[in-house]
Amino acid sequence: MGITASELRIDSRRMKKDFEELSRIGATDDGGIHRPAFSQAHLKARDWFVQRAVRMGIENHVDGAGNHQAVMSCGKNDAATLLLGSHLDSVPFGGRFDGALGVVAALEILETVKEHGVSLDLHLCAVDFTDEEGAFVGLMGSRALSGQLPRQEVDLPSGSSDEFHRALERAGINRDSIFSAGAATGTIAGYLELHVEQGTRLKETGADIGVVTGIVGIRSFRFNFNGRADHAGTTPMDRRRDAGLGACSLVLKARERFIQNFPGCVFTVGNIDFTPGAFNVVPQTASVSLEFRADDIQTLDAMETAVYGEAGKAADDFGLDLTIDKLERTVPVHLDDHMQKALSSAAEQLGLFNVYLPSGAGHDAQAMALICPAGMIFVPSENGASHSCREYTRWQDCVNGANVLLQTALSLAGAQMIT
Ligand SMILES: [Zn+2]
Repeated sequence: MGITASELRIDSRRMKKDFEELSRIGATDDGGIHRPAFSQAHLKARDWFVQRAVRMGIENHVDGAGNHQAVMSCGKNDAATLLLGSHLDSVPFGGRFDGALGVVAALEILETVKEHGVSLDLHLCAVDFTDEEGAFVGLMGSRALSGQLPRQEVDLPSGSSDEFHRALERAGINRDSIFSAGAATGTIAGYLELHVEQGTRLKETGADIGVVTGIVGIRSFRFNFNGRADHAGTTPMDRRRDAGLGACSLVLKARERFIQNFPGCVFTVGNIDFTPGAFNVVPQTASVSLEFRADDIQTLDAMETAVYGEAGKAADDFGLDLTIDKLERTVPVHLDDHMQKALSSAAEQLGLFNVYLPSGAGHDAQAMALICPAGMIFVPSENGASHSCREYTRWQDCVNGANVLLQTALSLAGAQMIT
């Protein structure tokens, strides 16, 4: 008697070969990778995806936002498609696993289904989303596919607009085509993503698998304090309007208040820019780049009110003017309950200890969750390291994650072995 669908497993050696091939593209000497969106290394990784799909005999489609979609038609013609995937771009000098693992696993699942002759009620698609990490526009591909990408973000990308234009050209994309990538209603049955945890909770709990419950929302701002430039030697302390002091006061006071009032949430100041920025000049302006994250809108609103209050006080205390630029605002999302249950029961069936946990990092799944049931699997990150060459996940953990992805996809797609 042949095996049943629930006994199917991915081919660990084949997936490892793929993963290692991909890890060599944009590899750095310290064991990491440097593959920012649209860099030469990223374009090579994109080619690798296409070649991999061709080798499998599967049709690859590139949409207007440059997302790669390798589609395996399994269901009836009018069947919806279950998407599996992640992203091939990296942060500058990032790790090998972030994004790449989810894409390699998605391709391996298609290969496994193909080689075993499984009949499904849904089409399967392995997807590689464009610019997840935001070299130019964060979550560009997944937000374009889910119809959630505001035009102003494409018009005002991070980095220069010209650079973005040239980058898109290199990948054969144009600005307007990005908006044609939106999926037609009803064509997507769901989205599943395997990703490294990028934190330490799985290691701390001894779990093999994390079933992600939701993804935090992020709000980022620039607080601009404006005072007066003065001589650092001849201006008495009580006559100064020192913009630097307003900035420093905001950082410390807001931190204190956030820790007290919003336990579990995170608050970060990543940069402060002083002008004129000389040893012997009292700063005229200080610009504070600040972000915070929480998993519900009410908390994000309360955090925003709190930080405005602290910034206003800091400006008053030091006699400064204040302007605020509102930058990124992503909405926290809850991942589909049915997907969570399906992932957890696939893990149980594979004998893997699994826990439910929220994600503190942004992922393509948060964009997809707005248009279809979306689910995410985390596998343990050694020492929680990520966005760094130190990023590492044991191969057995990668295989476990891929098998949970496989079994969940099979059960959602009503798999039957063809006898
Ligand atoms: Zn990622």
